[in-house]
Amino acid sequence: MGLDLRADPIALTAALVDIPSESRHERRIADEIEAALRVQAPHFEVIRNGDAVLARTHLGRPSRVLLAGHTDTVPVADNLPSRVEDGLMYGCGTSDMKSGDAVFLHLAATLAEPTHDITLVMYDCEEIESSANGLGRIERELPDWLTADVAILGEPSGGFIEAGCQGTIRVVVSAAGTRAHSARSWLGDNAIHKLGAVLDRLSRYAARSVDIDGCVYREGLSAVRIDGGIAGNVIPDAASVTVNFRFAPDRSIDQAVAHVYEVFDGLNVSLEVTDAAAGALPGLTNPAAASLVAAAGGQVRAKYGWTDVSRFAALGIAAVNYGPGDPNLAHKVDEHVDIAAITATTDMLRAYLTA
Ligand SMILES: [Zn+2]
Repeated sequence: MGLDLRADPIALTAALVDIPSESRHERRIADEIEAALRVQAPHFEVIRNGDAVLARTHLGRPSRVLLAGHTDTVPVADNLPSRVEDGLMYGCGTSDMKSGDAVFLHLAATLAEPTHDITLVMYDCEEIESSANGLGRIERELPDWLTADVAILGEPSGGFIEAGCQGTIRVVVSAAGTRAHSARSWLGDNAIHKLGAVLDRLSRYAARSVDIDGCVYREGLSAVRIDGGIAGNVIPDAASVTVNFRFAPDRSIDQAVAHVYEVFDGLNVSLEVTDAAAGALPGLTNPAAASLVAAAGGQVRAKYGWTDVSRFAALGIAAVNYGPGDPNLAHKVDEHVDIAAITATTDMLRAYLTA
């Protein structure tokens, strides 16, 4: 017996969880999802790409909503098969994110007259290095499958619509000096001492909070590493602080870098950017996204970490995380999902997709 997409999404969550699918081992779960969609969602065009399954309607609606979920999990930690206890379903992938997948698959098979066209993307390899990410592969090989007005990722979001995400850059702030024996310190120039001014700027730094489309993003500029020193009797000629700037998505990477240069302006140090990832604007003002926010009763908050939402934002598509799981439980041995949240998420999305 294969997957029953029309069954209660709670039962469907359990069925998906009980198919082990650690990253790079998603063939079986993809086979089962593909077979079920072909039979149980006949109004969808279904294709396969590697171990991803894609399906979409062609109803001629004025807008398209893309529902995306990864089918892989982190390695099982002796926590399969799933079990339900006191209204909680335990097991690897219950929260991150097979409960979200189950909601999407159930809606695809049961929504007779959606008011938006729907694209469903069930993809592989989200939990490992980003070069293997199935969504990235689909973007390269099947870009027309990723056109939509709104993208909803079923990642655990605790019942909130989590929109956009902050950007991040890492900058190494280096000071140079002159090496000398510490017994004759006046012959040297101490690079570590010069970092005092850098740390002083950091501790006095007032971070912004920025409200964009009702989501508040809290920035942070933090020292995350410090390097320096040669030996117990040597004045060091080099020292550095690595600074991480988490910035609101109203700044571009270039603007974020310029801001960090400004913060350390006038100090005798050099700066090098070693890592950068752009943020994503929430984009909740477009009508299809605004009605999603309304359907969720305005339960919207900013997303702080970097997720696949950013891929859609880079494509100019409003994208949010919205799934029944709890983000604090992802990847934990006692990972679980509140089964009432699976029902609530299903009801909310059904209302949105048929309003
Ligand atoms: Zn996830």
